[in-house]
This record gives sequence, structure tokens and C-alpha cells, in this order.
Amino acid sequence: MRYVTSRPGTTPLVLDSPHSGTWYPDDFDHACDLAVLRRAEDTHVDKLYDFAPGLGVGWVEAHFPRSYLDVNRSLSELDLTLLDGPWPDPVEEGPKVRLGKGLVWRLTDEGVPLYDRKLSVQEVRRRIERCWYPYHEALAQQVQAAVQRHGYCIHINCHSMPSVAASHATEYPGMEHPDFVIGDRDGTTAHPRLTRWLAEYLRAQGHRVDINHPYKGVEIVRRHGLPSQQRHSLQLEVNRRLYMDERTLQPHEGFGALKLLLLDMVRELLALDPRCL
Ligand SMILES: [Zn+2]
Repeated sequence: MRYVTSRPGTTPLVLDSPHSGTWYPDDFDHACDLAVLRRAEDTHVDKLYDFAPGLGVGWVEAHFPRSYLDVNRSLSELDLTLLDGPWPDPVEEGPKVRLGKGLVWRLTDEGVPLYDRKLSVQEVRRRIERCWYPYHEALAQQVQAAVQRHGYCIHINCHSMPSVAASHATEYPGMEHPDFVIGDRDGTTAHPRLTRWLAEYLRAQGHRVDINHPYKGVEIVRRHGLPSQQRHSLQLEVNRRLYMDERTLQPHEGFGALKLLLLDMVRELLALDPRCL
């Protein structure tokens, strides 16, 4: 099984799905229930956007689950309490690590510990080498190639969110999420006019859309977005209740309509030049 798929495109648009992986590697060796762990997946996000490569849109996808290694974290966001030995590189204890949601997760969204053992320094290194580096290298290459071809890149970092935040999921437990949340890290990873355009587009389809709250975008858009160099990265969170049963993880009748909406959105983005907004 491959850890990461990268399908370079021919247009200025690049999409990536870091959290939809459902392949649990053999060396994961977690203690908590798989069913509980699976609730952390952005299940089916890869299928919602599977039209992208056919339109010449660049595509990067993780096949491993985010609970194994979260590529939407920086390498310094490592929870040292998980390890059986000293970690040689610098680390920082940010809010995600405190929630148990660092580069390697300590707790599920419900606050259940993932492991009943310590992880070896070597095994965490292996996860980083197999997952984190290939993912970010593929995405960086595709974004750079799009800028070279077209003078700009619009990168949509695709996620889904639970309808209600669980106790250890975010800093706002119990919050009822809107239909979409767009994150540009307070206007720093994409031109704010592009963020507004996308929000207005989705609102015009009858959806509730918030910007930068409660999700403002994390490591992926921070790393790959730089609007002054025409690299525009937006994080797009879709509410899971729009397309699946959150208990069984099965898609429901809303899936097709949402996919059509996302297809229209991508077509509109392909016709848009952020330099002219
Ligand atoms: Zn996600």
C-alpha cells in the first residue's frame, strides 16, 4: 500500500486531502478501538473530490489515517510524553499538542488514549519519513509547478468536520458547526478577496459559511500558501452531516448533491484569476 498519492495536474488549481485515509498500517499498534479511532477520519473526502484529476486539477492524498501521523502539524508539534526516549529535534507545546492532537495523536476526539505503550523514537521517525515528507514534498512540487505554468496557484486543502465538536476535538467542545468553514489563517495564506469570493459562492448556494472560526487552517496552508508570491492556500471544512451518517460512516443521500456542488465550485475556481479579483 502506498502512503501518499500525488497526481500532478495541468491547471492552476491543486487540491489535497490529508485526513481521508482509511488504511491503518500494521505497525500502528494502537490500544483504543478502531471504531472510535475511525471517527477522527475525514471519511469520504477523497471520493467527494474524485473528479479533480479528470479536470486537470492537481491532487495529493494521504492513505494513512491522521491518527497515525497528522501531516497538518509541523514537525515540532510532537508530544514528548508519548516517547520512550529523548527526541533530538526542537519541539514546542502548542494548543494542538495540549489537546492530544499533535503530529502523533495521544487522545481521540472523545479524550480516549490511543496507546497503552510508549512509542519508540525510531518508529515516530519512520512515520515522519514515510508520511510527512512525501506528502509535503508532493504538495510543494505541485503548487510550484502550477505557479510556473500559470503565474499563480489556488490550493484548496480539503477536510470535513463533525456536525458537533467532541470534548477533545477543538478548543470549542460542543460547538455546532456550520455547513462550511473556510480558513486562511486570518488572511495570511490566501488573498482575502479570494476567501470572500469562496464564502459568497457557497452562501449563494444556500449554505451557512464561517471564515477562520473555529478552524482557521493549520500547518498545510501555513506551509504552502504565500499570497505575495501568488500561492493562495485555503482550508475548506465541509460538515459531515451534509454527506454521511456520522455514526455508521456510510454516505447518505446528500452525498451526490454535495459532490455536484463541489464540482461546480471547482469549475468556477478554474475560471477565476485571483490577480484580477
Ligand atoms: Zn481534516
